[in-house]
Amino acid sequence: MSFAHRLSKFLHQLWSTPVKASLIAWLGAATGIFVVRLTGPSGELKLPATTATELLLLTGALLFSVGAVAYSYHQKLEALKREHEEEHQVRDGILFKRGKRTGGKWMAFCPVCERPADTTILAKCPDTKCMWQAMKAQKDIDEVILQLPP
Ligand SMILES: [Zn+2]
Repeated sequence: MSFAHRLSKFLHQLWSTPVKASLIAWLGAATGIFVVRLTGPSGELKLPATTATELLLLTGALLFSVGAVAYSYHQKLEALKREHEEEHQVRDGILFKRGKRTGGKWMAFCPVCERPADTTILAKCPDTKCMWQAMKAQKDIDEVILQLPP
């Protein structure tokens, strides 16, 4: 995914959160003040104290919502990272991985393209373009797995 795509997705998701209400309120207040400025009888650029306070509070609320949303995304990202955390070991030219995706068990993978190895006869890559294979049957692989960290 490109950066621009991710950014637009983020902004789109941001828009469907409490940020939207704060932003609209902020824009409303800012427009109100702008109109007051334009139609002020003396032509001076003075903000009515209450409106200025409201604007300040709304700006605070807006910043707070943006922060809260950014934090919740950060939390989600961390959870996703934990989900994909994997241990890697290379033995006899075969890549072994263990993680949530393998149900916490060591499994043989192609060391070239990292696809799960096909071990029906001899360990090989299921990708016909990759062509990686090892002279190891499932029982040899099981023996290697026994030597890996429990
Ligand atoms: Zn491969």
